[in-house]
Amino acid sequence: MAKVVCVLYDDPITGFPTSYARDDLPGLTEYPGGQTHPTPKAIDFTPGHLLGSVSGELGLRKYLEDAGHTLVVTSDKDGPDSVLERELVDADVIISQPFWPAYLTAERIAKAKNLKLALTAGIGSDHVDLQAAIDRNITVAEVTYCNSISVAEHVVMMILGLVRNYIPSHDWVTKGGWNIADCVARSYDVEGMHVGTVAAGRIGLAVLRRLKPFDMHLHYNDRHRLPAEVEQELGLTWHANREEMYAACDVVTLNCPLHPETEHMINDDTLKSFKRGAYLVNTARGKLCDRDAIVRAVESGQLAGYAGDVWFPQPAPNDHPWRTMPYEGMTPHISGTSLSAQARYAAGTREILECFFEGRPIRDEYLIVQGGGLAGTGAHSYSAGDSTGGSEEAANYHKA
Ligand code: NDP
Repeated sequence: MAKVVCVLYDDPITGFPTSYARDDLPGLTEYPGGQTHPTPKAIDFTPGHLLGSVSGELGLRKYLEDAGHTLVVTSDKDGPDSVLERELVDADVIISQPFWPAYLTAERIAKAKNLKLALTAGIGSDHVDLQAAIDRNITVAEVTYCNSISVAEHVVMMILGLVRNYIPSHDWVTKGGWNIADCVARSYDVEGMHVGTVAAGRIGLAVLRRLKPFDMHLHYNDRHRLPAEVEQELGLTWHANREEMYAACDVVTLNCPLHPETEHMINDDTLKSFKRGAYLVNTARGKLCDRDAIVRAVESGQLAGYAGDVWFPQPAPNDHPWRTMPYEGMTPHISGTSLSAQARYAAGTREILECFFEGRPIRDEYLIVQGGGLAGTGAHSYSAGDSTGGSEEAANYHKA
């Protein structure tokens, strides 16, 4: 029988919810393009309930314990004295999430002698040292597509929030003010602006589709070009070179995975290619950007604003400068963990576990690493190597 260790974010400080704002979720069964939502044999949770925090347990306890497995759920993940550090030594499966990532560094993977499956309840497995997983023949899987549309909606919200100066204007209301000029002195329309996405995968393309009705000019950069009919339908301009796209755009959004090829791709040098006063929205991964270069760019006016929900490490240290820099629209890492998304990734986690325990193949699109190499989505979108360096700093965070 297996030991499953699951690392989830903390419950709400107000306690685990006993009621919810809404009674149901839309009855969707497939993603754009036809991939089906997760299809586990059964679920033991109510879609729309909080599943992603410790007490939600991704709805897995009954299923795992009925089958004789052991489930340990914790949010205590950082530092040498953490519960994760203690429990991983004999874990067969570690379930983690990008929002509150259990960094599986080479050192931790070396300690986890029984580990066979590192399962990401979400999308983005850069918190796992993929090279170490490849070398140890550990399977890495994630729930591809489960929250791509959730993130695309968040990107559109953040673009509008920055360009229209929403958050500072809201702040004037809560401060009791009516300071219209203060609000609008940095407020514009997106209509007619040029927006470009780095990567037009599931999220990037969904962002472009959602911005089309705003009458923006749409650009993208990706290693593979989209089909000609999609380019034509949306009026897309493809750029072989990222810097060339930056120079053409008023708004840039990052939607590619973090891997050694993309780490720090936004830095002092590449920021010089941006138009002065461009907006940058990053809901992909914090480490795609050089932290201090972003601060310099918003302070100098090279960027008119920066928004996103991804940081490095996570949780971000209390003194992380993106918390307090000017013209930011940051949130904690929430875009992919709406209650709607949680229902999908909890079901996808269950589907992957069922396949793993029953010796059935895991869907190809869920695979990142298998059989000692990149596989499935991993082979398409990632490069081998490690992006977890520096993650030990997450231990410096203290609950507010
Ligand atoms: P997809 O796999 O559908 O898309 C990723 C795209 O990135 C692919 O089209 C791939 O292109 C492209 N890409 C990879 N490397 C590069 C590169 N060097 N330059 C340009 N494009 C590149 O994934 P999703 O769209 O669903 O998710 C993308 C990322 O968003 C995830 O990896 C994750 O990091 C992040 N994410 C964040 C969430 C959040 O809650 N904030 C939730 C979900 C995802 P190609 O076709 O050329 O390989």
